[in-house]
Amino acid sequence: MDARALKDGVVPGRLDADVLTEQFADLHAPLSDHEALVAADRCYFCHDAPCITACPTAIDIPLFIRQIATGTPEAAAKTILTQNIMGGMCARVCPTETLCEEACVREAAEGEPVQIGRLQRYATDELMSQGIHPFSRAASTGKRIAVVGAGPAGLSCAHRLAMHGHAVVVYDARPKAGGLNEYGIAAYKTTDDFAAREVDWLLQIGGITIETGQALGPDLTLEGLRGAFDAVFLGMGLGGVNELTAPGADKDGVLDAVDFIAELRQSSDLSALPVGRDVVVIGGGMTAVDAAVQSKLLGALNVTIVYRRGRDRMNASVWEQDLAAAKGVRIITNASPVAVHGNGSVREIEFEFTDDDLKPTGETFRLAADQVFKAIGQTLEGDGLPDLNGGKIAVTGAGRTSVNGVWAGGDCAAGGEDLTVTAVAEGRDAAEDIHATLMEGDNG
Ligand SMILES: Cc1cc2nc3c(=O)[nH]c(=O)nc-3n(C[C@H](O)[C@H](O)[C@H](O)COP(=O)(O)OP(=O)(O)OC[C@H]3O[C@@H](n4cnc5c(N)ncnc54)[C@H](O)[C@@H]3O)c2cc1C
Ligand code: SF4
Repeated sequence: MDARALKDGVVPGRLDADVLTEQFADLHAPLSDHEALVAADRCYFCHDAPCITACPTAIDIPLFIRQIATGTPEAAAKTILTQNIMGGMCARVCPTETLCEEACVREAAEGEPVQIGRLQRYATDELMSQGIHPFSRAASTGKRIAVVGAGPAGLSCAHRLAMHGHAVVVYDARPKAGGLNEYGIAAYKTTDDFAAREVDWLLQIGGITIETGQALGPDLTLEGLRGAFDAVFLGMGLGGVNELTAPGADKDGVLDAVDFIAELRQSSDLSALPVGRDVVVIGGGMTAVDAAVQSKLLGALNVTIVYRRGRDRMNASVWEQDLAAAKGVRIITNASPVAVHGNGSVREIEFEFTDDDLKPTGETFRLAADQVFKAIGQTLEGDGLPDLNGGKIAVTGAGRTSVNGVWAGGDCAAGGEDLTVTAVAEGRDAAEDIHATLMEGDNG
């Protein structure tokens, strides 16, 4: 074995740059024209198609598949994008195995669904590669709307508002737009700078200004935005992370998984990114799987996910758990961290087995670790926000908050799953409600 793989500590360059390029290549190669036709041919074009109901953005899946089958992928893309303006990203990141493809009648009958996600990518990639933006703006309404957060929720809301003729200013705390599409999604799901390309493509609608480096809190207040705009949409996601309470959790090498992933996503040279030899990830969701798989791909020798409940309770889908296993990640369940050991930096982490109700069993074990990633959930940050429910912004209907003229959607809003596609749906629906409210105000 290469000595670099065995070197302990957190070091860069465990693998050569060309190997890393291969490791982080597209998880699923795009379908060729022929493969797309064959895949489309498997669709029964069901009446009352269950796949549509299972899609949070309710894309007319049989229609777009038929459009691919008849050789008009651009029309298929328009069908998709009418419902979901980030249909390109969702085609790459949606857990289709628990959404449309799980509901597909061919999954129930044969255990092999129509490849809806890959067909969606085929169509949207085709349109975007031609630089076509298939929507145009309505005449200006003279209304101005502030959107806080340039993630999937904020961008989807902004696009729909711009289409209705409103002027939108999107404020984001970070230097780049895209939210977790740019800073969070696993690198092998969105290669070739797709997140940034999709934002540029979306902005072709016109009428949207993005102001980066502007955060609600330090730079902007909700009251200020309400005074300066006709409506406000809050789509700032979940900026905080839950802390590990085990003694020793403040040692060097114990890090937030989302920070590690953001650094990886922004790195232009993965061989310069340090990673441990023995990596332990605590958590059971997508973030845990992504941190673990990407550590392994960077060249970590031993990567273990430890989750406090049983496998069936993990938020990461079975497909994602299998992906982790296929990449050589070990998953230990029913164990909670009780102490982090090491002199200054972490060397070992100690766990105690728990039953399904999280009751400690008294049986402990230790894992060697020079890096520990915490992936135990994210939290909403900020003061002066509308009323909360369960730690998120309380909403009724299409994202109306407790404050008049302020809507919210995506991860920062209560209800709904924390998925890209859900954020897009909520941003779109809030935009329709904002539009109806502002126009009703004008007509009344
Ligand atoms: C590591 C990771 C991997 C994931 N993988 C997947 C996946 O494969 N598939 C999937 O469907 N979902 C995945 N998700 C979930 C998905 O990314 C989110 O559900 C989705 O991005 C939520 O969109 P959003 O617009 O609500 O928030 P975000 O994407 O978080 O965007 C919020 C934006 O608001 C900005 N912001 C924050 N605070 C402020 C402030 N005070 N002022 C101004 N701007 C602010 C942020 O900078 C950010 O740009 C993943 C999440 C994580 C953390
Ligand atoms: S359920 Fe499957 S077969 Fe039926 S329309 Fe949807 S993708 Fe096609």
